[in-house]
Amino acid sequence: MRRILLVEPNFHNKYPPLGLMKISTYHQRRGDYVRFVKGCDTGIAGQQWDRIYVSSLFTFYWDITIRTVRFYSQSVASQQDIWIGGVMATLMGDEVAALTGGTVVRGLLNEPGQLDSDSRVVVDELTPDYSMLDTINYQYGLQDAYLGYATRGCPNRCDFCAVSQIEPNFIDYLPLKRQLKSLEMLFGERHDLVLMDNSVLASDALGRIVNDLVDLGYERGAKLNGRQRRVDFNQGTDVRLLTPEKMALLARTALRPLRLAFDDSRLRPVYEAGVRLAAENGVRHLSNYILFNYRDTPQDFYDRLRLNPVLNETLGTQIYSFPMKYVPLNAKDRSYVGKHWTPRLLRGVQCILVATRGMVGPHLDFFEAAFGHDSDEFLEIAVMPEDYIVHRRAHAPNGAGDWRRDFHALTSGERVEFMSVVAAKKITRRDVGAASTGRLKRLLSHYVDAASVDQSQLTLLDD
Ligand code: SF4
Repeated sequence: MRRILLVEPNFHNKYPPLGLMKISTYHQRRGDYVRFVKGCDTGIAGQQWDRIYVSSLFTFYWDITIRTVRFYSQSVASQQDIWIGGVMATLMGDEVAALTGGTVVRGLLNEPGQLDSDSRVVVDELTPDYSMLDTINYQYGLQDAYLGYATRGCPNRCDFCAVSQIEPNFIDYLPLKRQLKSLEMLFGERHDLVLMDNSVLASDALGRIVNDLVDLGYERGAKLNGRQRRVDFNQGTDVRLLTPEKMALLARTALRPLRLAFDDSRLRPVYEAGVRLAAENGVRHLSNYILFNYRDTPQDFYDRLRLNPVLNETLGTQIYSFPMKYVPLNAKDRSYVGKHWTPRLLRGVQCILVATRGMVGPHLDFFEAAFGHDSDEFLEIAVMPEDYIVHRRAHAPNGAGDWRRDFHALTSGERVEFMSVVAAKKITRRDVGAASTGRLKRLLSHYVDAASVDQSQLTLLDD
């Protein structure tokens, strides 16, 4: 019997670590002792393990992941007994291996013999061990949902997306019934179904997948224990592939919400047509990931955001938007600033989102109150002092009111100077002193005097 330790670094994660959960099942079936911990657990310091698996997520969790691997380096006979897998390990495997001496697992465990050469088991096909989550003091989300896949991979290769490296082969059908039945048998019935497919609409087997969902009790309007059941393709569906036939199929299920991406303003007609199709098929709860800080401009971002509440008013839909800040696939932190953005503007967007709890609601009046009535006003709000953005109502009669008056009175020359000074996040007394006019000095002094927003509030939004 081997002693196996599974570790998820202590980053925030809404989703339980499915990879580790399948590895747990694998080792238990082999008769090994398995323990799962979150982060650097001093309670097991000094214990020795035959193998330690550390999962990884986004590359911007680089520091915390490497720190976690190093924490356990004395707990194995050889560094190679620490196995590191997941997104970051796949995307930056050479660097991870060079820095830690660990064994890097790239991509999925979807072939036999990847963990032990004498095994014919495909780890990715195993039922995840949900019981291991009860052994730690950390609450993942989605407690009452089955997690699964109806497809794997994606036939596309968008350059901002890691899917083609993590799941390079598109598999257009996976038997959902088998996955759910075995989960139910082992861990009990769950209410909802979260499918983590990357591009389900690319599947030629969509009809079969929908039949499976209906047979499993996730037909449109389905209830369990008096509550509406939900199917959620939570990675989003590709609106470019949404045809009337496919929409009609999806509408047969308890889909809620329908998640569509709108990453590029050139997709606007296609996106609008997709929302219309959904509404025509009675699917009114939608959710929209909106990428920004990529090749877009702030104006373009604003226009994409505003479209949703406008569509809601005309089509009777309820679209919630979730802005997603782009960082490059190999970024070790979240500080990347896109070509058309500045640190100030990015921070401003995050401050607006603090006030709206990370999402943009479906109503136009709320949207305009938060983001402005047009892209000019959005730019104005986004460069205000942080505390004025988050607590706009409280500051409106005094500080923010004065700030706005001076901002509107800027000459074009003053405006250029102002925008270049505020582009960076931190403004000092020296910047105020160096400003070329009294109005600019007055305006800039707000940034020195007003409180800034707690960084932890902003980083939570990125998770
Ligand atoms: S379509 Fe979506 S999942 Fe596929 S590569 Fe592009 S962003 Fe990634």
